[in-house]
Amino acid sequence: MEFNDDADLDTSQVNDLRGSGGGGGGGGIGGIPIPIGGGRGGIIVTVIILAVVLCGGGGLFGSGLLGGGGGGSAKPDNSALNQQCDKSNKDRFKNADCRNVLYINSVQAYWKTEMPEAFGKQYQPAKTNFFSQSVNTGCGAADSGVGPFYCPADSQVYIDLTFYNELNSRFGASGEFAAPYVLAHEYGHHIQNLLGTNAKAQQGAQQGASSASVRLELQADCYAGTWANHATQTKDPQGDALFKSITDQDIAEAIQTAEAIGDDAIQKKAGQKVNPDGFTHGTSAQRKKWFTQGYNTGDPRQCDTFNTSNL
Ligand SMILES: [Zn+2]
Repeated sequence: MEFNDDADLDTSQVNDLRGSGGGGGGGGIGGIPIPIGGGRGGIIVTVIILAVVLCGGGGLFGSGLLGGGGGGSAKPDNSALNQQCDKSNKDRFKNADCRNVLYINSVQAYWKTEMPEAFGKQYQPAKTNFFSQSVNTGCGAADSGVGPFYCPADSQVYIDLTFYNELNSRFGASGEFAAPYVLAHEYGHHIQNLLGTNAKAQQGAQQGASSASVRLELQADCYAGTWANHATQTKDPQGDALFKSITDQDIAEAIQTAEAIGDDAIQKKAGQKVNPDGFTHGTSAQRKKWFTQGYNTGDPRQCDTFNTSNL
């Protein structure tokens, strides 16, 4: 992929919570520390990360992973972002923060146009919070170990950007395009929230091969695919394209990431037998299938994972 050097980045779509004592360490956070390395703790944590990876459905938040005590309220401080991601910085796209701002800008620009066309509803912008280690959200306190997520209660996305290293080192999902795929997936949950899809899905089963949770997650993958289809058409507020190009290699990286975090792949990696009763996000094959469905059609109305017998 190639970025447009002339594009203006809108850093106001992000809250940078990393600089101002985010979390402050210590007690109160209901999450799980991430020990580096193996051992029993390592395995347990791996399972948890994998199980929750790219999640954001309401069901997740009833699982006890979130909802601990307060972790200190970090105030957003975007001053570093504003400086680094300004057009005057010729090297801004070497900076992962700025690339992620661009992805968020692109995904939201896409839905601003697409949502009224596809669903007859206005898009409501949602901020993404960059946090470090732990964060307080409308869904409770969270730890980096839960992976990126969308909180329906406050309609915001949360990500510790070091998660991408995790994706690479633990799950072999390398390649830069994993990042926009992850963000587009989380914004897919925001679309579901705006449409009321996830509220409905919360009433269904949260585990199992054809559960509401799996249908919700596969739909979010499909929405990520429709964004990828339209990404090169997305523009900054001045009308300048955000991307110059997206290549087949980029799309292959998104698919590789989707496959790497399929429920069956995760269970195998954790040394378990594949058990469909424990599925929450869909298999590798299903995640690939629905991302591809979104990408090939470019039409979010073709992402109806709730009314199909062929998940
Ligand atoms: Zn998800």
